[in-house]
Amino acid sequence: MPLSIIPHPHPTLRVCSRPIRKVDAQLKRIVSEMLDLMYQAEGVGLAANQVNLPLRIFVANPSGNREDGEELVLINPEIQSPKGNETAQEGCLSLPGIYGNVKRPRTIKVSAYDLRGNSIEREVDGFLARVIQHENDHLNGVMFFDRMSDESKRDIDDRIDELETVFRSKQASGGIPSDQDLLAELEQWYHTYC
Ligand SMILES: [Zn+2]
Repeated sequence: MPLSIIPHPHPTLRVCSRPIRKVDAQLKRIVSEMLDLMYQAEGVGLAANQVNLPLRIFVANPSGNREDGEELVLINPEIQSPKGNETAQEGCLSLPGIYGNVKRPRTIKVSAYDLRGNSIEREVDGFLARVIQHENDHLNGVMFFDRMSDESKRDIDDRIDELETVFRSKQASGGIPSDQDLLAELEQWYHTYC
């Protein structure tokens, strides 16, 4: 089945994703689909659990354009040495059209693996550091609005509530499975990769 981007409050957005043990043809196909979805949606990053796969991998391109910028595929990323602070607006493909200010460290070190199994170790700052932190949060079940101040979040609370109401009413009418059934569907991935 083709992958698609799941909206908030799908329960997979809140799981702690599992480390990837091996890069195989299946993972390469997943990455290629994730990149297609990210560019189609005009996003700058997409984490695996946003396509309902609880795996520690995300794709990003701060330019949002396949022809430009730097395309990143980070496997089992880890973030260290946060420095400085910066507040800027963020959005999320799981909450289309909703934006809010988030304060984050300005500079970070990120270590990860790429699709060829090479280790990546880089210091990044500015917008790229923000994108990487946002996507890495997804792997830990954290959404950007969790990091917003109460005051800023108040401006988008109604929009978030609306998304939640739509999702819950689809569950109530049987259009979307229950949270319990959605999470049960993830088990196959745990067995494949852990
Ligand atoms: Zn996001």
